[in-house]
Amino acid sequence: MLFIYGRNGFEVKVQTTPPSFTTSTDQRMPMTTIEQRIDRAKDFFARYGREFMAEGVSQNLVAAYRTAIENSWRLMREGGVTACCSACAARDPAGCCGNGVEEWYDEWLLIVNLMLGCTIDRSRSIQEGCLFVGPRGCELLARHQFCLNFLCPTIVDSIEPARVRMLQSVSGVELSAGWQLEQQLRRWVRDHDGALAFCRQEGLI
Ligand code: SF4
Ligand code: SF4
Repeated sequence: MLFIYGRNGFEVKVQTTPPSFTTSTDQRMPMTTIEQRIDRAKDFFARYGREFMAEGVSQNLVAAYRTAIENSWRLMREGGVTACCSACAARDPAGCCGNGVEEWYDEWLLIVNLMLGCTIDRSRSIQEGCLFVGPRGCELLARHQFCLNFLCPTIVDSIEPARVRMLQSVSGVELSAGWQLEQQLRRWVRDHDGALAFCRQEGLI
């Protein structure tokens, strides 16, 4: 496994062994291409995103998730992780974000990224890299658990153990906040016939 860490203060990178093809929370085996999943996520978001985001509970969960993500980035900057990854990225633009990691992302996590304001590109800017890695690092905000949990040996060896534990702790908070938002989205879909029919038709549920 592998994973992350901010570059240039705004992005997070990851390295990888061959992808396991498990998805964000339900561990299904995706049978579709990442391009198809991106298109489905964008279609869902265009149809139902505004309605979902109009609800107070949705807004609160999005805000909490965004705050958790920002806290993770801040700690990585303060801990020197960002500087370390920036130096690494200067040597290799893809860094440890390898081609194939994008396969871990399912429609739900992609929809959450859209809710956070990400514009998800279907084209790969770095051939040897993850579909989501761009010139400034990861272009997603809501990242897969594997993209959050891995600390490469370079990072682990360069920062204090206590700081490593803090990073792991804030990553856990971030994952929890993202999980709560995704669960709220799934509940919302079950309570809305149109969205439910769409998700069944598209194979999201
Ligand atoms: S320093 Fe480690 S985590 Fe950061 S980009 Fe390089 S390999 Fe990835
Ligand atoms: S989604 Fe891709 S670019 Fe983003 S952190 Fe994970 S491996 Fe790196």
